Amino acid sequence: MRLRKNFLPRTLADIWCFLLIATFIPITFVFELTIVLPEFHDFGGLFYWITLIAGVFLIMNIKGNMLACMLVDTSIKNEILIPPTDPDERKLWRMCSVCETMAPPRSWHCNTCKTCILKRDHHCFFTGCCVGHRNHRYFLMFLIFLIIGSLYTTIYNSIYLWYLHTETYANYFTLFKMVFPMLMFTVDSSWTNFYLLIYELNVIAFAYSLVLFVYHGQIILRGGVIHERSACKYDLGWKKNLEMVLGTKMHKVWLSPFVESPLPHDGINWQGFLKQTPKNR
Ligand SMILES: [Zn+2]
Ligand SMILES: [Zn+2]
Repeated sequence: MRLRKNFLPRTLADIWCFLLIATFIPITFVFELTIVLPEFHDFGGLFYWITLIAGVFLIMNIKGNMLACMLVDTSIKNEILIPPTDPDERKLWRMCSVCETMAPPRSWHCNTCKTCILKRDHHCFFTGCCVGHRNHRYFLMFLIFLIIGSLYTTIYNSIYLWYLHTETYANYFTLFKMVFPMLMFTVDSSWTNFYLLIYELNVIAFAYSLVLFVYHGQIILRGGVIHERSACKYDLGWKKNLEMVLGTKMHKVWLSPFVESPLPHDGINWQGFLKQTPKNR
């Protein structure tokens, strides 16, 4: 697997979004470990370890898949691109005037990444890179684990705030602080407000990642990418479509981003593949 040499975010929007998610997740983890967990379970007990191990598993998969999404090179750079000789098949290829090369079907040029991306889905602000053929798996798993992780912390934090510390948080002023989160620090910059901010960010992360997952999930299950969402010409049935993203060992990819799951396609030669799809026979 080829890795990107320069994987850091390039634009201001990418940098801010990346910093938000890169700092918010470890801060949440430390908060849960040091503040919330000791109020639920005694240190060293069975439930303490179960909760801790589940938390470590979730954060490793969130950060690991996010990093893998940023690192794996899914561009046409260093690819051997040989356009087909058959004129009909060649029509599927296009000339990219920026890359100055013939680019394969389903690839699109990204002005931020400054290259054509194989089976390009979209440019992700939070990872600062394009999501395409080779890193689609990591993006999807990043989303799934973000949903589970933020839901997990939201449940614990809800009990912590609204049940264990009712006297501090259960009042109308808390609602005002949640609606205007930046104002809360000008009014009161205590730790209780900081905990409230972490809670709120997790609720937002859960809702936002769930919406993204539903949107991207239904396109993936139809065998498409965002550009093709109105007409998915490469639909092989949901199981094969999922395999095209998660790889041939797709039942194991939830374990870790380090689990190898080879993709059943090279992301370049779609012309013969297109003919084999049931809808295009
Ligand atoms: Zn290009
Ligand atoms: Zn891009």
